[in-house]
Amino acid sequence: SNQYPIAQPVIVHFHSWLQKMVILLDSKAQQTELEWISSPPGGWEEISGLDENYTPIRTYQVCQVMEPNQNNWLRTSWIEKGDAQRIFVELKFTLRDCNSLPGVVGTCKETFNLYYQETDSEVGRNIRENQYVKIDTIAADESFTQGDLGERKMKLNTEVRIIGPLSRRGFYLAFQDVGACIALVSVKVYYKKCWSIIENLATFPDTVTGSEFSSLVEVEGMCVSDAEEEADNAPKMHCSAEGEWLVPIGKCICKAGFHQKGDACEPCGRGFYKSSSQDLQCSRCPAHSYNDREGLWRCDCEDGYYRAHSDPPSVACTRPPSAPQNLVYNINQTTVSLEWSPPADMGGRNDVTYRIMCRRCSWEPEECVPCGGNVGYSPQQAELVDTYVNVVDLLAHANYTFEVEAVNGVSDLSRTQRLFAAVSVATSQAAPSQVSEVIRERVQQRSVQLSWQEPEQPNGVITEYEIKYYEKDQKDRIYSTVKSRSTSATVNNLKPSTAYVFQIRAFTTAGYGTYGPRLEITTKEEASGTTSTIVSSEQNPVIIIAVVAVAGTIILVFMVFGFIIGRRHCGYSKADQEGDEELYFQFKFPGTKTYIDPETYEDPNRAVHQFAKELDASCIKIERVIGAGEFGEVCSGRMKLPGKRDTSVAIKTLKVGYSEKQRRDFLCEASIMGQFDHPNVVHLEGVVTRGKPVMIVIEYMENGSLDAFLRKHDGQFTVIQLVGMLRGIAAGMRYLSDMGYVHRDLAARNILVNSNLVCKVSDFGLSRVIDDDPEAVYTTTGGKIPVRWTAMEAIQYRKFTSASDVWSYGIVMWEVMSYGERPYWDMSNQDVIKAIEEGYRLPAPMDCPPGLHQLMLDCWQKDRADRPKFDQIVGILDKMIRNPNTLKTPLGTCTRPISPLLDQSTPDFTTFRSVGEWLEAIKMERYKDNFTAEGYSSLESVARMSIEDVMSLGITLVGHQKKIMSNIQTMRAQMLNLHGTGIQV
Ligand code: AMP
Repeated sequence: SNQYPIAQPVIVHFHSWLQKMVILLDSKAQQTELEWISSPPGGWEEISGLDENYTPIRTYQVCQVMEPNQNNWLRTSWIEKGDAQRIFVELKFTLRDCNSLPGVVGTCKETFNLYYQETDSEVGRNIRENQYVKIDTIAADESFTQGDLGERKMKLNTEVRIIGPLSRRGFYLAFQDVGACIALVSVKVYYKKCWSIIENLATFPDTVTGSEFSSLVEVEGMCVSDAEEEADNAPKMHCSAEGEWLVPIGKCICKAGFHQKGDACEPCGRGFYKSSSQDLQCSRCPAHSYNDREGLWRCDCEDGYYRAHSDPPSVACTRPPSAPQNLVYNINQTTVSLEWSPPADMGGRNDVTYRIMCRRCSWEPEECVPCGGNVGYSPQQAELVDTYVNVVDLLAHANYTFEVEAVNGVSDLSRTQRLFAAVSVATSQAAPSQVSEVIRERVQQRSVQLSWQEPEQPNGVITEYEIKYYEKDQKDRIYSTVKSRSTSATVNNLKPSTAYVFQIRAFTTAGYGTYGPRLEITTKEEASGTTSTIVSSEQNPVIIIAVVAVAGTIILVFMVFGFIIGRRHCGYSKADQEGDEELYFQFKFPGTKTYIDPETYEDPNRAVHQFAKELDASCIKIERVIGAGEFGEVCSGRMKLPGKRDTSVAIKTLKVGYSEKQRRDFLCEASIMGQFDHPNVVHLEGVVTRGKPVMIVIEYMENGSLDAFLRKHDGQFTVIQLVGMLRGIAAGMRYLSDMGYVHRDLAARNILVNSNLVCKVSDFGLSRVIDDDPEAVYTTTGGKIPVRWTAMEAIQYRKFTSASDVWSYGIVMWEVMSYGERPYWDMSNQDVIKAIEEGYRLPAPMDCPPGLHQLMLDCWQKDRADRPKFDQIVGILDKMIRNPNTLKTPLGTCTRPISPLLDQSTPDFTTFRSVGEWLEAIKMERYKDNFTAEGYSSLESVARMSIEDVMSLGITLVGHQKKIMSNIQTMRAQMLNLHGTGIQV
């Protein structure tokens, strides 16, 4: 039965905000009759009409106001839900108020009911009431308005309701009238989608929003073509319930050879390259390289140019160097020294070295062979960095050629001809080389027989050898020689049992060669037993003393240096600590009380009684349980102190069966709270420790914790009221930070609200003091970190400071402006940390003035020194409250940043208790007596002063008059503000 048209999804593309919706049913868009089912007859009727723009539309109307017990049903055609999870139903209708209809008292109604029924397909025409689920009773916001002439005009109402999650394929909507006069002008059914987008080079597909108001749907992106995921940083986004994409994390980057153009990767053009995905831009081919195709990761070298294996694609192609220049030589017997200048063309590189090629040539015909391993090179044969070399151990009277080649990183890649400088050299005559191999043939009491090999390079004809010898103990001060024509000799007339040293050299016409190595031989003992004395190498006492002295000196030097190094180290680390110390400490107001960590007390009981009053249990009356604390129930009750009026109090109790440590930790909060006295910090009345249960008695905060309170009153406060709450929290935090107290767990859930909407900082469980000891900020025994509220540095390395409290304060601002929304919605903690590190910050909540969002962003500065101080935050909020125009939200988006609001705040007069204190703060304390003498003893009286009054005090300096007057004016404005814009629920 296709009699009843089924609504087809229509995608609307007019306005950007509409693009988030997919329309399932729009009664106004239908040209033909709607033909919805109406029952019983005589109830709802389909009527053609004109809308407010005089466009023809179909409406359903009912107006059975005279008859009692009406029950008229109207059912839409079947609506297929597609992939929707949360369906929006927007109704536009007019409703007559019963007062405008005479004679209907008792029967006329002013509401109707909205229902739905889920089905997998169309069902029959009968309406079975019990199968419908009620969505809401709909009343008109404005049934009528008063016209100019006092007559009543009907007004169009718009109501939106949300249904879901749905589980069947589709559904019907039904309207139940119980006796009202209604015209249904339009019914629109839609759901929201995040439309496919490209972000950070990743494509995110169309995504239907989640089923819950606060849920974010996490979507993984697909890299666009020719892009790839950045390592460990896959692209992700979150589709919000409003159909908006939020929190991009990770990204894609263009592959090598491609660069980003808009939302796509384009190939690098001809003559350009990109070597890695990490590079952002394509670069022009470096010198001596080219490419004639697009999308390349590197360029090719021109002919004759090369790239060494270690050369990155970004460096120019290079070529081998030209030949070295100005090669000169110098001969000294069998040694040739070569020297040259660097080549004219280094080939474009700076890694040029030199190598030597040595060849020995016969005289006639000229034929050359490599010199081989007998020739030595100093410093070496190849990879010479300097432009000289000595070639040693050449043959005498020989012809050599030397080639000196310059080589660089691409020489071995080149197939072109080698370029070198060459010289031909003839060595002169030279003495023979050393006699190095000497053999002892026979050793006797008085003679030694030796033989040896001819030297390797005789450099001529050897005519004679000379054997030099001496007694070892004599050194060679007294020596003898023996000559021999052959390669052996016997040395006679030696002493028995004596160590001798022998050395041999050869002789040619070119002269003597150098002596060979020393050979030590001891002659045999005399058989008769007469031995000569052998001087032993006994220790020389002088040497021993010297050694001891040297060792001593070294130890001494080490000791001195060790001392200096040690001292230096301590010195530096001390300086570091001082440099790192919190600004908050240095700016602490002189005379301000300083917070004392109760943990520094050896006896925790003493700490409690130092800071908290012991109350008599009989003064406390517990009335009812209002919450659950960490250590036991939190109750409300009353306290009646002798001679005082009884007051409402909250009572935290310690559950029975506690351990001693639990009792200590429980009372720790009282020891901390008892040190504070500020209108925006919860006030401790006292403790009951002598009796059971152990109790902490606190002022009663009627509206409980701020987060729950805001959720309960979603959308019900003015911006000024919200800013007033934030101002209070900031003032409380300013007080705490001035006392040197770091809260560490500032969050809306830890702010309490009283009946006057005054917000007070509470929950002093996890907090620890900033101590002079730099270690104190790193350690915490407080366990878990509330990630969403905590500054980066506190998460990363536990750097908790007043500046990290400022970060948390920014989160509290966001919570307040979004009426208790969860920061970062349902993102995981890991994703939150990642997003924050990547620079993502929470967007402005709905209807949030841009100035406030800017202040949040300032609180979330990465560098904690850039964040505002609580003092400045209070100043900024005061300014906003004074000039409510700054809080007007421009229509449309809220994320437009405005210029930073930070400025030097003027002193806050509400914190001064006396004229003297005020004068001190504005550095005019010298006039204290002038004020008292003239009877200005209260700030109120000062606030009323005129410039004449100031002058009459005897303040003659015009600059001082002006300064005091301008401060009086500000004080007046602040006082006005304090009493004039009293904030009330
Ligand atoms: P706490 O242990 O401080 O987190 O307290 C637990 C719950 O008790 C809070 O979330 C409040 O709802 C409630 N509560 C605590 N202190 C007070 C108070 N002074 N006045 C009213 N309610 C309180």
